[in-house]
Amino acid sequence: MEETSAAHLLVIGAGPGGYAAAFLAADLGLQVTLIDQEKNPGGVCLFRGCIPSKALLHAAKIITHAKDAKELGIEFGSPKIDLDKVRGWKNSVVLKLTSGLGQLCTMRKIRFIQGKAEFLDPRAVKIEKAEGGSERISFDHAVLATGSKPVSLPFAPLSKRIMDSTSALDIENIPQKLLVIGGGYIGLELATVYNALGSKTSVVELTPNLLPGIDSDLVDILKKRLFRSFENILLNTKVVKVGEKAQGVSVTFEGPDKKSSTQDFEKVLVAVGRKPYCKDLGLEHTGVKITQEGFVQVNEKRQSADPGIYAIGDIAGQPMLAHKASHEGMAAVRAIVSGKDGFYPKAIPAVVFTDPEIAWCGLTEKEAKEQGRDIKVLKFPWAASGRAVTLNRIDGLTKVVADSKSGRVLGVAMVGDGCAELISEGVLAVEMGSVADDLALSIHPHPTLSETVMEAAEIFSGQSTHFYKPKG
Ligand code: FAD
Repeated sequence: MEETSAAHLLVIGAGPGGYAAAFLAADLGLQVTLIDQEKNPGGVCLFRGCIPSKALLHAAKIITHAKDAKELGIEFGSPKIDLDKVRGWKNSVVLKLTSGLGQLCTMRKIRFIQGKAEFLDPRAVKIEKAEGGSERISFDHAVLATGSKPVSLPFAPLSKRIMDSTSALDIENIPQKLLVIGGGYIGLELATVYNALGSKTSVVELTPNLLPGIDSDLVDILKKRLFRSFENILLNTKVVKVGEKAQGVSVTFEGPDKKSSTQDFEKVLVAVGRKPYCKDLGLEHTGVKITQEGFVQVNEKRQSADPGIYAIGDIAGQPMLAHKASHEGMAAVRAIVSGKDGFYPKAIPAVVFTDPEIAWCGLTEKEAKEQGRDIKVLKFPWAASGRAVTLNRIDGLTKVVADSKSGRVLGVAMVGDGCAELISEGVLAVEMGSVADDLALSIHPHPTLSETVMEAAEIFSGQSTHFYKPKG
């Protein structure tokens, strides 16, 4: 080992958790070293997750909006897709944002090392540098933020025809026929992209519904549109065999009736979940403990069983989302600096960027009912929203889940085109302990989709202006 150095704070993994932690620590005066295998910070989110997928979903939205314009009397021809340019544009978005993060590191005087870190003991790591050579770094505190990896299916090894989310984002071609295994948010978002680009897209999901765990009234509205635009959606169906052939992939399904059937596809995307990435980190040389689910065990400060080592983001538990990682990262740094702070969110929002989108925060209706809570569910259908009508997108619903006595807003959930941008009002309401009347009496601009939140909340104390519900 050639070099040795020391850091107040060592952050391993520069995804949205790791870089947010490193930036705050540097702003608070700590001497910070940030390690990642990539050339710049960004992690899965920027290189092969949130950002490239949303860039492609934007392209997909332009195609579907142009198609839908026919209903308004405006007809465009079929889109001519230059895949190299689409890919190039998506890559330029990733490069712009990740190189910007690299510059923010330099400006904050954070030492960024491209390399792979492994613990030697509870206070030191060895870095195998990408440029060659290695370095031993000792630290006062470490933040572990190594994220997660896609779960694979043992009988469907990755290849040119069998993709995971990372290779699917490269859109090497537009397959004639695509099967997406997994009806979770990653599978459905990528299915939306390929379907808009022209692939005949099918989705297969093991459980009885798409997006398991999300309120079914929201999913039903999405499903209605997906059933129209996708080739097929198979629910309650298990993929039991995947075999690659010269011209495609042959997939055997076992349906709800236990009968099996086989179909051929040009390509298959496996999107069956993600697992925390704790491998090859030398954690056995530390006191860090791993839970049964494979996450690093942490307390409310995001401190592991080894008091000098903190863990945040996908490696530290559900929900595996970028904004949760960033907030945990900042909470961990504040705990390291002050010894006090912790991570106590009341509402972590989640968004599925399909068409229409689904977004929710706080307690869902399903969770509230499972907990036996005495709640009022206030629903405002987008068919009653002037803005939704002007946009020709009435396929939406906004729900407020409120305590039936106090009116306290426990959760907000919605489905509809563009609702990802609306959910933050719900987060604020839950975090601030607002009651439904706070939302109802706050004047929302007209005509906007945000009015659907206000009008749903109005139902708590009577009627909403634009949606009449008979009493009793
Ligand atoms: P990650 O972003 O996973 O970063 C971990 C980093 O650690 C990686 O860069 C890796 O190279 C590095 N690393 C690992 N081991 C080592 C080591 N030994 N030494 C050095 N470096 C190491 N979330 C959302 O909130 N919104 C979305 O819209 C969204 N869309 C997604 C779409 C897709 C297709 C995917 C796959 C994920 C999406 N996610 C989304 C999830 C989101 O990407 C993750 O929740 C988020 O990236 C987790 O951040 P993190 O900081 O925990 O780690």
